[in-house]
Amino acid sequence: MLIRLKDVNSRNLVKDEIMSMESNLEIQEIRQNKSIELGITGNLSKIDVEKLRKNRNVENIIEIKEAFKKANRIYKNEDSIIKIGNKQIGGNKLSVIAGPCAVESREQLMNISKEIVKSGADFLRGGAFKPRTSPYSFQGMGEEGLKLLNEAKKVTGMPIVTELMSADLLDLFIKHDVDVLQIGARNMQNFDLLKAVGKTNKPIMLKRGMASTIKEFLMAAEYIMAQGNENVILCERGIRTFEDYTRNTLDLSSILAIKKLSHLPIIIDPSHATGKWWMVKEMAKAAVVVGADGIMVEVHNKPEEAMSDGPQSLLPRKFDEMMRELEVIANVSNKQMQV
Ligand code: PEP
Ligand code: MN
Repeated sequence: MLIRLKDVNSRNLVKDEIMSMESNLEIQEIRQNKSIELGITGNLSKIDVEKLRKNRNVENIIEIKEAFKKANRIYKNEDSIIKIGNKQIGGNKLSVIAGPCAVESREQLMNISKEIVKSGADFLRGGAFKPRTSPYSFQGMGEEGLKLLNEAKKVTGMPIVTELMSADLLDLFIKHDVDVLQIGARNMQNFDLLKAVGKTNKPIMLKRGMASTIKEFLMAAEYIMAQGNENVILCERGIRTFEDYTRNTLDLSSILAIKKLSHLPIIIDPSHATGKWWMVKEMAKAAVVVGADGIMVEVHNKPEEAMSDGPQSLLPRKFDEMMRELEVIANVSNKQMQV
């Protein structure tokens, strides 16, 4: 529920009236253009809306019908911008996250990160703990991988994005200064994990579950936000359909749906969406035309030897080519590459 006040100075009086109806609520002051509104979340069943409307300090009340409240465009009209170091995701910037599917060795990670930063990548991605379909496949380097990501960050200056699969590892990720916690498609509805990252102040990149609707996707974001962490970046990575030529089906219309329903930034992962490196560049360009706030792509210096996702990984040279073309496309959709 959103309460617009007649006078900002009366906000404590209005808060007191709400608290007298139900004390176990979260009341947040939200800046909307020049005024301040009160955003009320929690169990609103005891709130007498009609009585509140009669409060002389209340201009009007908007009830948010959808189950997602804090993620809702009604709750906050302006696009959210997530700041990470000297970079940002959202607003008029186009953000590019790139790197290998998995951190495999110092040599591999250094080689790839030096190449992608030269081409203009903003963030370095790389899994240290990998969610693999088979328990016999490479599971990631673990803590060693987090250390290598930090080494690459020191050399290139790129903030790091890496997947957290279990709340048990949260302290380790914080200790190793991970800049953006990635929640993978397979964990989009791991509610305990969502609650745990919601209690941190780290930016969270939440990937769409492979069989999740847009509303379920936004509800997962709401889980994180309800705990107090509003730094959520959504990532569309394709969904399962009957089509099996591509690894997944890239739902580009989700960009438009999410921009309408929510203020959160959304980026596209054309690597996992297609599973084929030769489709990545064009799908990335399409995503930017539709209005994505950024893209995340997998890059590998030796894709044929990659321990995971080689067939969808771009060579650094192809990544560079994509970046040059994205620069042109970004202007068309009123976005700028970051410097
Ligand atoms: C990944 O980004 O490496 C990954 C495992 O992606 P997803 O969770 O989208 O499958
Ligand atoms: Mn991958």
